[in-house]
Amino acid sequence: MVSKEYLESLLIEARQLVSQYCVEHNCSECCVAYEVDVTGDELDFFVNDNRDGHRFKFKLDKETGIYTLKLNPCIHHSEKAGCSVHDKLNRPGICNDYPLFLEKTQDGFPRNYSHEYWIFVDELRCPAINRGNLERVFRKIEETGVHMYNSVSERFFVGLTTFL
Ligand code: SF4
Ligand code: SF4
Repeated sequence: MVSKEYLESLLIEARQLVSQYCVEHNCSECCVAYEVDVTGDELDFFVNDNRDGHRFKFKLDKETGIYTLKLNPCIHHSEKAGCSVHDKLNRPGICNDYPLFLEKTQDGFPRNYSHEYWIFVDELRCPAINRGNLERVFRKIEETGVHMYNSVSERFFVGLTTFL
């Protein structure tokens, strides 16, 4: 059984490639007009720096305590300079992890699946994923047998072509 540590190391490798793409292509697609799920502390990070004229829309899921916040765009984003808090240690987890998230197998999801974790891949917006920059890492994930969930097709895929 593949360890969580190994999967996390693969995700770090993948996110470094994504980050490289963000910088090289000056992309900020996920910081503009996007919805994010954040904890209460993370919500503060997004809304405390309350610039004039900046409006926030968010809703709380009372069961999980998670807020869904609309970035329209994010207050830490500028078109010229990108993310002004990129190097801050307290940057919200979602900003560090996007667009790859390690998820725990639970409540029978995914079905007929023997691994403890699966990986959510948000391909909907991220060109770093869509342009195939991460194939090298995806192949290593494929070797572990861990499934990745494709947000576009809403199906799991094993490797790069075989869908479940
Ligand atoms: S904090 Fe930075 S990375 Fe996170 S959404 Fe805002 S601009 Fe994007
Ligand atoms: S959409 Fe992808 S490539 Fe663009 S800034 Fe976000 S993580 Fe980077």
